[in-house]
Amino acid sequence: MSRDDYEVVIGLEVHCELSTKTKIFCSCSTEFGGEPNSHCCPICMAMPGALPVLNEKVVEYAVKAGLATNCSIEKNSKNDRKNYFYPDTPKAYQISQFDKPLCYEGYVTIETEDGEKQIRIERIHIEEDAGKLNHDEYGRGTFIDLNRAGVPLIEVVSKPDMRNSQEVEAYMRKLKSIFEYIGISDCKMEQGSLRADVNVSVRKRGEKEFGTRTEMKNMNSFRNIVRAIDYEAERQIEEIEKGNKIAQESLRWDEISGRTFSMRDKEDAQDYRYFPEPDLVAIRLSDEYIEKIKKQLPELPESRKKRYKEQYELTEKAANFVTSSKYYSDLFEEAIKICNNPKTTGNLIMSDIARILNEREEEPNCIKFTGKELGELVTLIDKGKISSAIAKKVLEELFNEVKMPSKIIEEKGWIQISDEESIKQVVLKILENNSQSVLDYKAGKDRALGFLVGQAMKETKGKANPQMLNKMFLEELNK
Ligand code: ADP
Ligand code: MG
Ligand code: ZN
Repeated sequence: MSRDDYEVVIGLEVHCELSTKTKIFCSCSTEFGGEPNSHCCPICMAMPGALPVLNEKVVEYAVKAGLATNCSIEKNSKNDRKNYFYPDTPKAYQISQFDKPLCYEGYVTIETEDGEKQIRIERIHIEEDAGKLNHDEYGRGTFIDLNRAGVPLIEVVSKPDMRNSQEVEAYMRKLKSIFEYIGISDCKMEQGSLRADVNVSVRKRGEKEFGTRTEMKNMNSFRNIVRAIDYEAERQIEEIEKGNKIAQESLRWDEISGRTFSMRDKEDAQDYRYFPEPDLVAIRLSDEYIEKIKKQLPELPESRKKRYKEQYELTEKAANFVTSSKYYSDLFEEAIKICNNPKTTGNLIMSDIARILNEREEEPNCIKFTGKELGELVTLIDKGKISSAIAKKVLEELFNEVKMPSKIIEEKGWIQISDEESIKQVVLKILENNSQSVLDYKAGKDRALGFLVGQAMKETKGKANPQMLNKMFLEELNK
């Protein structure tokens, strides 16, 4: 059998740290980092007898996440104890949710090569994060830092609806974007605020039953998620082709060797002995409460995308790209208020800004300038003050230091030359120095004109107005 006879099946359990000020069951700060064990109290340190109190903001944020992902909201929810031993969780249990998650049966829409596809969400529940173990590099032992213990999380469990690593990346990016839009998390994957347990199985095409899955835990970069899925799917297919069975187990992805390794734990066979958390009351939500939160939701990417196409006549591609991140979308909206040119603004974001971010290996939330600067930049292009080549250079500058573009071009002397006299001087000089090209042009080689314009651009370091150059060269050559 060949590779194409197999279908890959993927389901994700995504953990997202909520950006509430305080932890889920106590009033300690949720701030990332800090001196080890400086954001702790008897409750999140699991002192015997300490009593948790549920942070109302956590419920609000989780309900927001549910509504933004088309979930139904459970009006009669509760917390449950999930019992297991982990050295970074001194309570020896985690307060989570078992059979009554706050949100259930939703979906998000992703764009794939074959058009839009819905990825179903089975549930979203709230739970507490664990502490962190720091393995001492000098081998003196392992230190525990409980600053993260009790930081609120939502866990978003998808149905096994994804069929390749691109769909998984699109799904993760969509969730990240939605959570950024509704402001419930900073979604910083490098800090672990957004991370995924990735479940992968393969089956022969046309088969009804899913294959046995393996799970890779706590993946927190798009690149590694994609690589790990591609590797793991190939590995499973090879095993099956050899006549072996896939064992249901947790794997560790090693990014250096680009391989998965068995962790030899039978976690999936574990019985967590869930039971209702006796120290917390049930969570009862009224229709009015849910309605109120629904009203607070900002305009979501799907709706923004539709509006950008209708109202601003952006192409499908541009509308898709600009709304793919709240940071792009907010930048766009602020900029067009100033320049009133959605098309150029959208294109600058999609081409140049995205390219620079990519080169810097940064995400859209790293952009420090605002729509004020971008809007002025577009206005400068529209007024013919700068060429698009200079606009690219101004953007590079904006990434290094936030300043008004008019100021940058003044300081750098990048203002476009568009007065007739100066353009004429340049044209005459270039014609004089390139007599062969002039002859070529007169002999019918139109390409010579492009060369002459190029020389003039070089001469003026890209500052000459290209339309004027073209026009004046033609005038002079046809004299
Ligand atoms: P558990 O409770 O053991 O974590 P679940 O049935 O809740 O298992 O599934 C956990 C995740 O694994 C879900 O995101 C689900 O979509 C995914 N999943 C389940 N079965 C498969 C499979 N055969 N292949 C790929 N993913 C799967
Ligand atoms: Mg699981
Ligand atoms: Zn605490």
